[in-house]
Amino acid sequence: MRESMQAVRGMNDLLPGDTAAWAALEQAARETFAEYGYREIRLPVLERTELFRRSIGEYTDIVEKEMYTFSDRGGDSVTLRPEATAGIVRACLTNGLLHNQRQKLWLVGPMFRYERPQKGRYRQFHQIDVEALGFEGPDVDAELILISARLWRRLGLGGLTLNLNSLGTPESRAVYRERLVEYFRKCEAALDEDSRRRLGGNPLRILDSKNPAMRELIAGAPLITDFLDDQSAEHFAGLRSRLDDAGVAYAINPRLVRGLDYYSRTVFEWTTGDLGSQDAVCSGGRYDGLVAQLGGDPVPAIGWALGEERIVELLRLQGRAAAEPAMDVYLVLAGAAAERLGTGIGEALRDCAPGLRVEANSGGGSFKSQMKRADKSGARVAVIVGDDEVARRVATLKSLREDVPQRQVPLEQLPDELVRVLRAPERGRE
Ligand code: ATP
Ligand code: MG
Repeated sequence: MRESMQAVRGMNDLLPGDTAAWAALEQAARETFAEYGYREIRLPVLERTELFRRSIGEYTDIVEKEMYTFSDRGGDSVTLRPEATAGIVRACLTNGLLHNQRQKLWLVGPMFRYERPQKGRYRQFHQIDVEALGFEGPDVDAELILISARLWRRLGLGGLTLNLNSLGTPESRAVYRERLVEYFRKCEAALDEDSRRRLGGNPLRILDSKNPAMRELIAGAPLITDFLDDQSAEHFAGLRSRLDDAGVAYAINPRLVRGLDYYSRTVFEWTTGDLGSQDAVCSGGRYDGLVAQLGGDPVPAIGWALGEERIVELLRLQGRAAAEPAMDVYLVLAGAAAERLGTGIGEALRDCAPGLRVEANSGGGSFKSQMKRADKSGARVAVIVGDDEVARRVATLKSLREDVPQRQVPLEQLPDELVRVLRAPERGRE
């Protein structure tokens, strides 16, 4: 037996039946971003490894164990992007987009992380990402969150919780970090292996631990919100009051630190109770130090990313996933002469009524099997052309969903007639 080719583990094929829901999500995001003046950017999926090492941070899951890194044929170390922000900042610097300018940008595309594949967690996954560079906030912090909230409304999604926290500045965080290390050192024996390693490198990440055994220890740890500097506290209050004004509910979560090193001040995460343990559908935060860290002049910035796989799954669970649209018309072409005429009929229909979904029967077949295909296509109307119709320059219109008699229409009147028939509300399907 021949062995069939397999896809790479953790990388999914999106089949035709799935793509309508994805397209609808991306279209809703595109429209929402446009309404706020955010512009699309498209970037390579491959970047120099150094970019992610310098931006995401050595002691993060991503850099420690999740990157797809390899040497290209010229010997350069390159990495498939695990997230979008670093590449966007890189592109802004490479192209001078931050010289006396500010940018509101969005990007959609695949990301790659070598994680253990499970429901809601894949090795190739897809994000929709939005970033505002050059804005100090907190007005823009609120705007970014409002964009996400509007997107959920547009998609008809419910049951999402907004978790909010402030990480302060690198200076205030350093003070907190010392206290945190002090606290965890006292109970070092109770820490799991990951946490012990993080204690030396990035102790805040311990708060991010998904190990239930660590929960109690973490619950007793000092709170970052008690260490905020005055300006960060004011910034955080400014964000909260804007969200209050806009009627966006949130939960302050002082344990929310986010996995990436580059965050400062505002961090947030939208979670759901519907997806099990992979409960974060959209996460983001402010990264005021990152542009300078990557060699630019300091520029404050903030962004978020949503995981398309998780949002699509949630849409499905909530009965909001867009379905693949059915055909409108199926051309049944019986006999060689009808087949030849069929191409022209199809083109004329699409010319007269752009957007009309017309499937012409391909590859012959008996009248009966063509009628079966017509039914399966979901079309409301079959246009039947056989020898008799060719001779008389007419087509037979047969409704596939309603019990109305079939009738013949002269070919030159066919487009108008079909548009009229299809525009009428369908009986029995509403
Ligand atoms: P998690 O805590 O679930 O690992 P994360 O903090 O690593 O998430 P981010 O780096 O903030 O996630 O990415 C933003 C969003 O991308 C997440 O909220 C999630 O919806 C999605 N996401 C992240 N990693 C994956 C993955 N491996 N597979 C599918 N979606 C993912
Ligand atoms: Mg992760």
